Amino acid sequence: MTSPIRTMFIRLALGAAAALSACSTHSASSPAASVAAGTDAANPLAPREGEPFLIVLGTAQDGGVPQAGAFNEPGWTDVSRQRLVVSLGLIDPATSSRWLFEATPDFRRQLWHLHAALPLQPTPGQPVLNGIFLTHAHIGHYTGLMFLGHESMGARDVPVYAMPRVREFLTGNGPWSQLVNYHNIALHDLAADQPVMLSPSLTVTPILVPHRQEFSEVVGFRIDGPRGPTRGRSVLFIPDIDSWSAWDAQGTRLETLLASVDVAYLDGTFFANGEIPGRDMSGFPHPFITATMDRLAPLPAAQRAKVRFIHLNHTNPALWPDSPARREITRRGFHVAQPFERIGLGPAPHH
Ligand SMILES: [Zn+2]
Ligand SMILES: [Zn+2]
Repeated sequence: MTSPIRTMFIRLALGAAAALSACSTHSASSPAASVAAGTDAANPLAPREGEPFLIVLGTAQDGGVPQAGAFNEPGWTDVSRQRLVVSLGLIDPATSSRWLFEATPDFRRQLWHLHAALPLQPTPGQPVLNGIFLTHAHIGHYTGLMFLGHESMGARDVPVYAMPRVREFLTGNGPWSQLVNYHNIALHDLAADQPVMLSPSLTVTPILVPHRQEFSEVVGFRIDGPRGPTRGRSVLFIPDIDSWSAWDAQGTRLETLLASVDVAYLDGTFFANGEIPGRDMSGFPHPFITATMDRLAPLPAAQRAKVRFIHLNHTNPALWPDSPARREITRRGFHVAQPFERIGLGPAPHH
């Protein structure tokens, strides 16, 4: 069943619209902009003009990098060592539409980056955000919704796509229930394996994932570009999962999914056991990057190259390009998601 797409708008009083537009050229001096430009230049999957695309808005685990209380982390004084919490943006220039995956504690900045990637003049009625897809109710994945509330944006009916227990959680618990009651957000139902059509060329499909279910069930998403003879790209987004074998037990094989997409953003929370000094991490509910690489090692290089690890904990050495961990990932034919990298999803429209 496909949810009807209601075109809902949030209207931002953006006094600095001109400044935002200027920043979208990526010629600005902000570190984020230069990272994005550099990444795109080296990225063969970068979108062509007019094509729908995904943009990586955050690559860190729920707590972000640097993490609260980790006073010795370099990110407190070095912006190049900061990473926003895991999130993707989806942009369709043809329909002037923008969606978010996850509403993180870094929502403010990520909404700006989404806007900078496709600046739309903030005229009345102009959509600034067409919807938010949530994977589950752990703090890094939904708490950014608070910025839609009346203390901040005072948004109106922003579509939030949620599985049944996430909906229950949001409607049944303050302060989230206030967002519902004040119509800052409008909840839209997701059902496992049921695609949501965002436009004729874009669909998003939730896939159930085994992961600690304290407050809600957990899903990942598959995001598909145009189907048919001019097939676009497909992307898998699995930021949190307990283990690949638990998924096997549910009848979902990572290898099968990987074969059916072009890019897979996979849970890379921890690089290897021993990463947190003094703790045996073997019982931690995430697959180590080393274990995922071992599992996928028999696959052809083209399959391995689709994998981009995301949701990295602040302790994960693979966060940093100059680390032995990152070099090992590269040597074995895998990738780490790069902040603000873009993945083109479909053929450019004919002019
Ligand atoms: Zn998480
Ligand atoms: Zn989680």
